[in-house]
Amino acid sequence: MKILLTDLNPTEIAERLNIKPFQGKQIFRWIHQKKIFDFDRMTDLSKDLRTRLHESCAAGQLQLASMSTSPRATGTKKALFKLSDGETVESVLIREKDRVTLCLSTQVGCAVKCSFCATGHSGYTRNLTPGEIVEQALYLLTDENMGERTPNIVYMGMGEPFRNYDATVRSIRLLMSPDGLGIGARRITVSTVGEVRGIEQFANEDWQVRLSVSLHAANDEKRSELIPLNRKYPIAKLKDAIRTYLDKTNRQITFEWTLLDGVNDSMQDAKELIALAGSLKAHVNLIPYNPVHGLGYTPPPRDRCEAFRDALEQANISATLRKEKGQDIDAACGQLRRRHAELANTN
Ligand code: SAH
Ligand code: SF4
Repeated sequence: MKILLTDLNPTEIAERLNIKPFQGKQIFRWIHQKKIFDFDRMTDLSKDLRTRLHESCAAGQLQLASMSTSPRATGTKKALFKLSDGETVESVLIREKDRVTLCLSTQVGCAVKCSFCATGHSGYTRNLTPGEIVEQALYLLTDENMGERTPNIVYMGMGEPFRNYDATVRSIRLLMSPDGLGIGARRITVSTVGEVRGIEQFANEDWQVRLSVSLHAANDEKRSELIPLNRKYPIAKLKDAIRTYLDKTNRQITFEWTLLDGVNDSMQDAKELIALAGSLKAHVNLIPYNPVHGLGYTPPPRDRCEAFRDALEQANISATLRKEKGQDIDAACGQLRRRHAELANTN
């Protein structure tokens, strides 16, 4: 098995190859800062070292299978990557005036099976390695895509990051490396469906990386229908874990709330959310549902989304209502891959 260099930090590269620490840094910089994966183009390495790299290492496992650009939401791009075993994952890049937000995947599929989610419906295949997570960023955070904009990274693509905890944490450290992309911790957000043990573990990490919890319903009956994992970790347990997190880190969390027409968009839903978010001083991120063919959910009309946000704000809960971005390119997680699978089945 070849050593996958994108799994490793500069010190580890040096140790694994038994080379000097500065050489480990050189290799890491070629890959992470210059995004050069071809050893022959790493011109400041000796010929000997390049030959060794060819023999024992691989850099750049992902292949771009397709890239779609939204004609409506200018600047939104969606990439489908093919992994070395033929599996596929997707990443979304959203470009705004002064920043770009990159949405990364952590697993091929997802075993949590939320009722509204395309990734959940495609089932679970495997975890991604740290390098496979980082490479999504290396391919998409190019000078051309970024320009003068500040990069932000959200772990909101395919998969549940806390079911692939170690690789997720390792990938974050690689993305933060000053010899690499050097992304600031506060510019990185991990989103979990509510894996309680992961939240507790995350509270012990020594950094300022942000945490989002996908809530979608603030009573157990409704939440369990949408998110089967809520039966194992009901809201009271989730709340305890978030309290532990807040006590240890003193950092505000965000609740993600995907607005589903007639499901979680009533004033009663808002009231329940206000009580929970208020007690945990959480920010709320409202996302109108991005329809997935065949799952039977739709987003509420815009005025109901706005009324929901206004109700939260009137109760002093800080809330952001996201614009729908990139619906036309299936930009919700798991959708592009699902479309590809459907096409493959009909061919
Ligand atoms: N597994 C993690 C992270 C990936 S999903 C989690 O569930 O938090 C990232 C976010 O996208 C979650 O809040 C999820 O509920 C939401 N989501 C999934 N499918 C969606 C869709 N079709 N439209 C809008 N949001 C969706
Ligand atoms: Fe998995 Fe998140 Fe989709 Fe739920 S919403 S199935 S946890 S990826």
